[in-house]
Amino acid sequence: MNHHHGDHDHVHHGSELSPVEARVRALESLLTEKGYLDPAALDALVELYETKVGPHLGARVVARAWVDPAFRTRLLTEATPAIAELGIGGRGGEHIVVVENTPEMHNLVVCTLCSCYPWPVLGLPPVWYKAPPYRARAVIDPRGVLAEFGVTLPETTRITVWDSTAETRYMVLPLRPAGTDGFSEDALAALVTRDSMIGTGLPKALPVEPAEMPV
Ligand code: FE
Repeated sequence: MNHHHGDHDHVHHGSELSPVEARVRALESLLTEKGYLDPAALDALVELYETKVGPHLGARVVARAWVDPAFRTRLLTEATPAIAELGIGGRGGEHIVVVENTPEMHNLVVCTLCSCYPWPVLGLPPVWYKAPPYRARAVIDPRGVLAEFGVTLPETTRITVWDSTAETRYMVLPLRPAGTDGFSEDALAALVTRDSMIGTGLPKALPVEPAEMPV
């Protein structure tokens, strides 16, 4: 399969459909009319991605990697079967590659051509991921892009940018936050944000305990 092109920006005029939306609507009607498409099945597919498949699944993968070194090794060696161990996989996730952040190396994922994204672990991509400014600038000025997302890394941390394609879709394994020793997998997963798995963010930091004041 070739890398697909063809995300375009459209100006929306009130309730009018954009050209792409109109074409999708027309195709859907035609396919339904001809009996090729079951509208209920289509609704179920849309609902699946809107409600069931999302970054909470990727967060489970990350949390498992943080607590289970053998799983982490399998995940970094061959991600797709490792992710399947958690019952996660499917369309858009046939070949997922997981890249690990370290104090020396931060990873950032982009699709410079369109919007390829590891759907089974992250759900549907955010709007900015599909937008030309992110796609162009992530490669040219990753540190500047990270700053706009509120992420400032030490100067000594190198940044590697990974270009996802329809065939190979990347996910970032973020650094485990400090102070989380003994956390359950669920508690760890709750710290993993969508953006931390794209590389435009970091996991949620723990609230800093106020210093004990003498009474
Ligand atoms: Fe793409």
